[in-house]
Amino acid sequence: MNQTVKIINQAKKEGRKALLETEAKTICAEYGIPVTKFNLAKNEKEAAAYADQIGYPIVLKIVSPDIIHKSDAGGVIVNLKTPAEVASAYQKIIENVKKYKADAKIVGVLVQEMAPQSTEVIVGAIKDPQFGQTIMFGLGGIFVELLKDVNFRVAPITSEDAKEMIMQLKAYPLLRGYRNTPPADIDALVSILCNTSRLVMDNPEIKELDLNPVMAYPKGAKTVDARIILE
Ligand code: ADP
Ligand code: MG
Repeated sequence: MNQTVKIINQAKKEGRKALLETEAKTICAEYGIPVTKFNLAKNEKEAAAYADQIGYPIVLKIVSPDIIHKSDAGGVIVNLKTPAEVASAYQKIIENVKKYKADAKIVGVLVQEMAPQSTEVIVGAIKDPQFGQTIMFGLGGIFVELLKDVNFRVAPITSEDAKEMIMQLKAYPLLRGYRNTPPADIDALVSILCNTSRLVMDNPEIKELDLNPVMAYPKGAKTVDARIILE
């Protein structure tokens, strides 16, 4: 787990508690959690070149230690279809972020594969003062925010635990497929939950982890946004 330890130590050294999306996704990938392809661009020309490599459509996102909720800052632009659109979105993001927080330190702009729309789920981990690392699972959007339809288990979890966390959701029928909603690959979600458990058990200095959203597909799943907060 070389990269993970290196990234966490570097953040500690710099006195940063919130890891950048690039760092969080590199850690996830090292633990076998599927993430969207990405590359960090430092200018619009680089952004367009990376977009060509990754393939369209593309999503651009701000990478800044001072911006935790990127879309609140106008720091996320989706569905870019040409190098010219990528280049102008790069400028737009920098402009938006400067307006939102004039002194925000900008590391660059993340050029990222756009994951096709699907059922959005959330995987989380939180270090409970009493129970230690705890894993969370729910469906995205109103399911978690309004209905609080989420399940928790104390880590480490087995794949049986993970299956239960999924199947005991009130919204579980949606994951089995309902009307326009295609069924989700439950095994892929179980694997993400177990790998998340392994990740936070191996790295007790992680206080919070948020994969929000994870796109759940009929075959596979993909993490679109990842956040890790250290103690
Ligand atoms: P934040 O949560 O910091 O505002 P996100 O990275 O979650 O930023 O982006 C906001 C929203 O944009 C996501 O919830 C998702 O709907 C969409 N989005 C972001 N990245 C992608 C991507 N790579 N593919 C598809 N949709 C994306
Ligand atoms: Mg998000």
